[in-house]
Amino acid sequence: MAIRVVARIRPQQQNELDVIVSTASSNDDSSHPNQVKIPNPRNEGETFTFQFNTVYDHFTTQQQLFDNEVAPTIKHLFGGFDVAIFAYGSTGTGKTHTMRGGKSLAERGVIPRLLSGIYRRARKFAKESVVEISVKISISYYEIYNSKVYDLFEAPDKRSLAGLPLRDNGTKTVVVGLTERPCESLKDFEKLYDQANMNRSTSATKLNAVSSRSHAILGIKLAVTTGDQIRISTASAIDLAGSEDNRRTGNQKERMVESASINKSLFTLAKCVEAIGRQDVRIPIRDSKMTRILNLGQNHSLTVMILNLAPVRTYHQDTLSSLNFANRTKKIEVRETENEPVFKGCARAIPTFRGTSIQRQPLR
Ligand code: ADP
Ligand code: MG
Repeated sequence: MAIRVVARIRPQQQNELDVIVSTASSNDDSSHPNQVKIPNPRNEGETFTFQFNTVYDHFTTQQQLFDNEVAPTIKHLFGGFDVAIFAYGSTGTGKTHTMRGGKSLAERGVIPRLLSGIYRRARKFAKESVVEISVKISISYYEIYNSKVYDLFEAPDKRSLAGLPLRDNGTKTVVVGLTERPCESLKDFEKLYDQANMNRSTSATKLNAVSSRSHAILGIKLAVTTGDQIRISTASAIDLAGSEDNRRTGNQKERMVESASINKSLFTLAKCVEAIGRQDVRIPIRDSKMTRILNLGQNHSLTVMILNLAPVRTYHQDTLSSLNFANRTKKIEVRETENEPVFKGCARAIPTFRGTSIQRQPLR
């Protein structure tokens, strides 16, 4: 199946003028538009049209986006498939709003809603099963900044600035030494997640960095044990670094080298997407840590990309590059495969798992 690409256009903000992005629908009966229209910056008389699976405008609520795009993936997760959801876009277009969201219930983003949905399904799953079953959920959360991986469950003053190494583990790339926290309830999760997000901003300050330059990756591991079999599936929710070209915002005279002006791993990601599109033999996935982890087109995850866009002219050029990137990404095919159950006796294949469980005794 192809990667699902949807665009989300955030509302115009108070001090913003000149809306240039609009939506349209290629088929009249669809309830959602599926096209984004934007003028050609070199010739305003000309309009570029991009088509995606769905386009969400500024009326779309957090709940609607979640219900349409993310809730359906939970079923696959419980069926043994891996899921990846990532937000792509320039800084200020709504990636963090989409993934993390605000404090209030209505403003909660995709991540807390996903966890909430997983717990709900876990309880239902355990309750309705005719055999003894246990569902364990654990969480990891890390960021990639400047090609280094930092565990966000570790306090910034306790961790090594060198970051954590990656290792290839069969078809997946894993972060060595990453903390995995068992999470029994949504409350547990929210506490951990808030603390980790605080770690994220403190560490950014410490590194004299901006959090918009780092990728934040939340990993959810679901282990379903039935009898003596365990099946593990994972969901990854990724808030990517800002995709803007800093040459436009930075000092024009002091023209930075390309790898520094465009986030290096996003540059690699774009190269990978181009290479996959051309069906090249060599896909430069291993050229950056983020692309190794995301493993686009090579992994077997059900993948949804949310393209965040700002509707106004100040973002014109960056919006256009984002749209072009998304246009190539939507053509990538992924062969989703089910994770095979592992017997408890062969649990060496499973990294130590310390999730707490939601259990159900068999019906008698
Ligand atoms: P990014 O993470 O891409 O840099 P943010 O998520 O921080 O962008 O969003 C930038 C600003 O726009 C924030 O103030 C955010 O609350 C607001 N915003 C983004 N998307 C929406 C939306 N769909 N509805 C309301 N406000 C939004
Ligand atoms: Mg952000």
